[in-house]
Amino acid sequence: MNDLKVRDRKLWEAIHMEKERQEYGLELIASENFVSKAVMEAAGSVMTNKYAEGYPKKRYYGGCGFVDVAEELAIERASLLFGAKYINVQPHSGSQANMAVYRGLIEPRDTILGMKLDHGGHLTHGKNVNFSGQDYLVYSYGVEEDTEVIDYGRVEEMALQVKPKIIVAGASAYSRTIDFKRFREIADLVGAYLMVDMAHIAGLVAVGEHPSPIPHAHVVTTTTHKTLRGPRGGMILTNHEDIIKKVNKVIFPGIQGGPLMHIIAAKAAAFNEALQPEFKHYQKQVVKNAHALAEELQRGGLRIVSGGTDNHMLLVDLTQKGLTGKEAEAILEAADITVNKNGIPYDTKSPFITSGIRIGTPALTTRGMKEGEMTEVAALILKALENHGAPEGIQEVKDGVRDLCKRFPLYRD
Ligand code: PLP
Repeated sequence: MNDLKVRDRKLWEAIHMEKERQEYGLELIASENFVSKAVMEAAGSVMTNKYAEGYPKKRYYGGCGFVDVAEELAIERASLLFGAKYINVQPHSGSQANMAVYRGLIEPRDTILGMKLDHGGHLTHGKNVNFSGQDYLVYSYGVEEDTEVIDYGRVEEMALQVKPKIIVAGASAYSRTIDFKRFREIADLVGAYLMVDMAHIAGLVAVGEHPSPIPHAHVVTTTTHKTLRGPRGGMILTNHEDIIKKVNKVIFPGIQGGPLMHIIAAKAAAFNEALQPEFKHYQKQVVKNAHALAEELQRGGLRIVSGGTDNHMLLVDLTQKGLTGKEAEAILEAADITVNKNGIPYDTKSPFITSGIRIGTPALTTRGMKEGEMTEVAALILKALENHGAPEGIQEVKDGVRDLCKRFPLYRD
């Protein structure tokens, strides 16, 4: 498998260096994970060569027998994993999954009620720079200033006022359990669809570490590459036949052409892994690690938004440290620790600067790290932040990061 190295040295080097970065750095981006070699094998397989517009057994191309098997496996396994009857595994991304639901269920200029981006929502939940904010009339709910959690009474008040056609629950930066049952009650009160975007927590949901939205939502969307630990991509799940029919038509022929069959094969491989008992242990450890990291960082003087976490991520408020999120991200990156700057609720700084960082444990937990290692990770983060502007201190953190990574090899063997 040295073709790239021989024929395209520059590209090979970029891939090689990225592999080294992943192997010897601490990956704490909450939306990232490391797929298994089996998932990567499927993603890098000959299925990338195949056009298969349409759905299994109803294709617009010949020669689809084997890709049909892969897509059907992905659907069957996702169905077992989440207890949903109808599934579309073709969305190229989480954003496209969300677009398909909006386009399938409502008309342009209809009203959506979603979570504010700067309180934890996603761009596709109605931000004005995104299609969702441009094509629909958007109202947004947030978290309360004192508790930093969603007040469902306030969401209900807003829903009664603005009468949305779709209520979107789910977030990119919210560390507390979401009450999907309560969201459905609100949706029913105003005759809205409830769409849950479980992209971040899908892995936790699969094993019962977060309550499932499936019994409550009309339709659920997700990415497959975060806690779910599959290839980059999206998926749509529902128990309503009329909804899947509408949404399927939007995905193809509405907004996508040929599905990425190699990625669908990799989704099938990942869902198979997620059905194994080991995956439940993994997700439990993801949550335990997030708790441990939050506690250690708090002990070290950092404020955690909402006082802690129930899931795989935490938001750190750096205001008292006198650092911005942008600065902290750069300091940590210099020490081979990867996080992303993130606004905190009621942030006074712009999204390019921010007062916080978002930290997640899915990737390090995949490497086998547990609570003991989280204590070490917290110490490294705190030391880097204390030592910004002191190259020797940062070098010491870098050395510590490398030692820790060597103890938990990723793709090295
Ligand atoms: N929904 C949520 C809640 C997300 O966090 C994300 C990505 O971070 C998406 C949707 C979009 O996924 P993608 O980047 O695959 O378009």
